[in-house]
Amino acid sequence: MVSKTIDQGSIPCVPVRQRRADKTAVRGLILLFPTQMDDLIQTLIQENYLKTPLIIEAFRKIKRKDFVLENLKKDADINMPLTIGYGQTISQPLTVAFMLELLQPNPGEKILDIGSGSGWQAALLAYCVAAPQERGEPRQEGGGKVIAVERIPELVEFSKQNMTKYNFIKKGVIKIICGDGSKGLEKESPFDKIIAAANAEEIPEAWKKQLKINGRIVAPIKNSIWLFIKKSENKFSEQEFPGFVFVPLVL
Ligand code: SAH
Repeated sequence: MVSKTIDQGSIPCVPVRQRRADKTAVRGLILLFPTQMDDLIQTLIQENYLKTPLIIEAFRKIKRKDFVLENLKKDADINMPLTIGYGQTISQPLTVAFMLELLQPNPGEKILDIGSGSGWQAALLAYCVAAPQERGEPRQEGGGKVIAVERIPELVEFSKQNMTKYNFIKKGVIKIICGDGSKGLEKESPFDKIIAAANAEEIPEAWKKQLKINGRIVAPIKNSIWLFIKKSENKFSEQEFPGFVFVPLVL
């Protein structure tokens, strides 16, 4: 997990806004009350963290409350990491938005999600790579796949239960594997994109090898988020975005 520190780095923490009466809309005879998550998404859009329509749609459709512990459901729409047990947390929405915008997940892609924890980010990715019919829309096209790797078996089970209602596992859009993601996943490679939610000291060579040319890696290294783009077999462009805090990638 991941949390953005309030006082370090270049990116301010987005305050969670309360439900506002002036946002209440009258549509026909129905009063629509925006949820706290609708407000948070709106703030993340205004602050330019969320930009891409498909990622915004994924944030709206995949409910974070489905991925938190029962006693924390009331806090699910707050812009903070929350414990999921075993010393781990579900990522902060701002950080997930920031990382997904760097990753740019697209329909049809194969993505490796390392440190999948609660499964929330994996489900957001699945929504983006899935064919429209797998997202509940009628068109027929080939979809992509998310391979999620998590080292704590109890969290693998937790994430599987959390995403049951979205049917991504049943439809073959997500595969969750219990194991050490620091080595990537050779047998499922190559990947269009790789994303990690746990902090490494340096980028594992295996991730670079298992990426397609023009593929992207978005990962925390020494508590900065890095974007790597594979330009050729041995050449990567790199960009650093400092000021985040992550749990360690356990080697
Ligand atoms: N995106 C997840 C983040 C979970 S926190 C969510 O929002 O729920 C990061 C996760 O990385 C933790 O669950 C931790 O167990 C896992 N992790 C740490 N080192 C790992 C490794 N080497 N391989 C796989 N998972 C790892």
